[in-house]
Order: sequence, then C-alpha cells, then structure tokens
Amino acid sequence: MAEFSFASLKLIPELLRAVADQGYVEPTPIQAKAIPPILEGRDVMGCAQTGTGKTAGFTLPLLQRLAPKANASLSPARHPVRALVLTPTRELAAQVEESVRVYSKYLSLRTTVVYGGVDLKPQTQALHAGVEVLVATPGRLLDHLQQKNVSLAHVEILVLDEADRMLDMGFLPDIRRILAALPARRQNLLFSATFSDEIRRLAAQLLHQPTLVEVARRNAPAELVSHQIYEVPALRKRALLTHLIRSRGIQQALVFVRMKRDANRLARDLGRDGINAAAIHSDRTQAEREYALAEFKKNRTTVLVATDIAARGLDIDQLPFVINYELPHSPEDYVHRIGRTGRAGLPGEAISLVSADEMRYLVEIERLLKRVLPRQSATDFSESDQRGRDAGDDRYHGHGHRAQDRDSRSHRTRTAPSERKKSTVDASGFDFSKPYEPAGGTGPSNKPEPRQSPSPTRGRSHRPTAALLGGVPSNKKPAK
Ligand code: AMP
Repeated sequence: MAEFSFASLKLIPELLRAVADQGYVEPTPIQAKAIPPILEGRDVMGCAQTGTGKTAGFTLPLLQRLAPKANASLSPARHPVRALVLTPTRELAAQVEESVRVYSKYLSLRTTVVYGGVDLKPQTQALHAGVEVLVATPGRLLDHLQQKNVSLAHVEILVLDEADRMLDMGFLPDIRRILAALPARRQNLLFSATFSDEIRRLAAQLLHQPTLVEVARRNAPAELVSHQIYEVPALRKRALLTHLIRSRGIQQALVFVRMKRDANRLARDLGRDGINAAAIHSDRTQAEREYALAEFKKNRTTVLVATDIAARGLDIDQLPFVINYELPHSPEDYVHRIGRTGRAGLPGEAISLVSADEMRYLVEIERLLKRVLPRQSATDFSESDQRGRDAGDDRYHGHGHRAQDRDSRSHRTRTAPSERKKSTVDASGFDFSKPYEPAGGTGPSNKPEPRQSPSPTRGRSHRPTAALLGGVPSNKKPAK
C-alpha cells in the first residue's frame, strides 16, 4: 500500500478509477501538493515543469470541482465552458486535452481543444455543441471569441499552463484580452517552470492569495541527468553529432537548435549521414507534425530536431538523450531542454556541443545550475564510451545492426591510449581537429542532394526529414 495514495487526496471514485487505469500507484509530489488546495477552490501558483505530473496535478482536482455539474444532456446550453486551460503550443494543448479525456472518462464532462494551423470548422462545431473543459492556445481562442463561436461567461476555473513560455512567446496581450472575456470571480491556477519577474507580475495581477506549490524537479538536473559538454568547433558539430549517435548506438534523441532554418538543415544533413531524422516544417500541416512526433515516440525515427518553442511541453516518456547542438541563449531554456530527459525517475544524458562563441552561454547555464558541468574531451569521450561498453550499459546499446556497426567501427579504429593523450582522434576515429567530410556509405544518403528548394516537394530526402518547429521569430506566433 502506497504511503500516500490518490484516495487520501479525497478524489472521487470516478477519478480514482481513471487514475488506476493509468497504472499510477501514488501521486507525484506536485500532485500531492497541488490537488488539496485546488479542491478547496484556492488559487494556486505552481512551479513545475513537464515531466513532474503537473497535468494530472491540475486536471484531476479541476474535474472533481466540475463533477457535480456533469450531465448527459444533449443541449449545448447545459455544457458551458466551465474550465479554460491556456497553453503556449498546439502540441501541449493536444497533450493536455488528451489527459483531460483520460482522467474524465468516467464523468459526463465534455472537453475539446482549439489551436491554430488547422481548420476552424470542426473546432467551431465542437464549441457549438458545448464543452465543459476547453483547452486552447491563445491566438486561436481569440479567433473563436471574435467569431462568437464560444462564450467564456461561465468559466469558473482558469489554468495558465507553462505561463513562462506563453510570455516568452509574446502571448501576454492575447492573454489579457482573454482575461477580459472571463468572469471576475473564478479560480486561477498558474503553472510555470521558471518564475521571472514578468511571471511574478502576471501572477500578482491574476492570483488571489495563491497557495504556492513548489516541488523539487523530479528530473532535477543534478540528480538524474548527467551533463556532458563537448567543446568543438562549430564546423565540426555535425560530424561529432553523427559520431555520437553512431558510436553510442543512440536510438532516440531530441536534438536542439536555436533557429528554424538550422533545424531544417541539420535534419536534412543527418539524413545524408544515414541517420533517420524526423522533422516538421512550420509550413507543414498539423497532422504532419503529429505524425512526426508519433513516429519519434514509436522509436521509428532516431533524431527529432527541435527548436525550444516547438519542443516545449512534449510528452515523451523516458527519453534517454537530449543533445544541445547549439546552446540556448537563455539558461532557463537549458533547464527546459534537459527536462525532456531523466524523467520518471530514469537517468538521462544531456549532451551539449559547445563552440567557442557559445562559451558565454555555458557560463550562464553553470551559474544557474550552480555547478561546473563536466567537459568531455576527445580523450574523455573515448574512455567513457569504452566504460559504457564494458559495463554493458543497455542505454548505450542499440539493437541489431546499429550496435554491431558501432562495435566493428571502434575495433577497427581504436587509438592506443598513449596516442590518445596527444591526439585529437578519439577511440572510434573521430578527429576533432579536422574539417568535416560527409560520411561515406551507400544508399540515398550518399547521393548529392539538391539544395533546399522553396518548393515543398522538391529537394526532399526520401527519409522522413523534418524539424519539429515552432521556432518562429518572437514577433510571430506559431500557434494560434
Ligand atoms: P506531465 O508532467 O503532466 O507532462 O506528466 C508526465 C508523465 O507522468 C505523463 O506521461 C503522465 O502520464 C505521467 N504521470 C502523471 N502522474 C503520474 C503518477 N502519479 N504516477 C506515474 N506517472 C504519472
């Protein structure tokens, strides 16, 4: 019997059943702390990032508060929007709505999600039919409000999820306009991974005598994520990335870049190196973005190249590797990025390829984390790679041909330890000092590929290459 159960949080049987169906044994710390005050109707300010179980932390009590009003009437008037959850990105919106569906399956409460980049019509129909829980990105919600597709006059609970990211993305004016459409009396819940002055200002305006709920991150950087810094010239990054993926038999890695165009290019270049890189361009449809994410989750794609905005809130369980191809300029983004790994109590690795011009960002990150992150030189790399292999560490071992590839490569080219000290060549032959030459090999990856063409159909690799984007200039909104 768990020391601290969901039942002890006084959740109703319908929710306890739904939680049990998910196989959850006990509440996570954020759930244990956030559920009681939310059930009491208090405003809550939660400091928690994705991976802590925060979605259930606000969704379960929210559903319980709405449960007395659940009804099976067909009349839209009996299903006004009673809870509004705002999220920064469409992916997060879709994930939150999915959670609401899962946890509300034994309750007669309706839910829907609205976000930009897709047809308004099906969303409009769902809104007209009536929903109690509406999950939305701000821009698209405003579109629906302007078209009078939805009324927010009966909202009792407002949730701002990943509020810091919404502000980063310039959603504050939209949020203010949405707030103006809400009743003044309501319960407000604000969740954020970081608390900047801007967030505190918003919280001060929005929340009434909030309960502050803060939990040590489940994936606290110091505990579960091992950081590795590779100092490498910018021009050698791609070669090093390919090398790391191959030599460690990495099966699934989220690779971060800062700019949308670099995400496109890197995904394409990895494809040329024979690494299956997944991506979604901002001009691709929502369905295509979701498909790429689904393929990645199913392990059919090895690398997902993402910008910070696009990757925000992605729910990918047990992601073993996050690779910072470029360091973010804000140290908080580093914490967000590595929040994708080391989840659910499992260890993860955060690998950063840092060029000389990025050292100042590394200093900022280390200041935030209050520690110096371990540098991996070519020599370190070869040794740690060897250690992982000697220990039979499964996390490094790919299945089938990839693992064999790696082993045969390293046996072929291993450098004598005495040489390694002097040399910039690592155990599997990677020379950090040389300019990059594309890997040899066979198949489509070795064929010259046309430069990227403005036409979406020309110059595409046969491999699923895409970059999970949303990395638009800050004056634009990726999701409406
Ligand atoms: P979140 O931080 O809300 O994105 O949740 C992260 C992951 O934790 C999701 O895959 C949830 O399904 C899972 N999760 C949420 N609550 C629990 C729990 N009490 N026990 C185990 N897993 C959970």
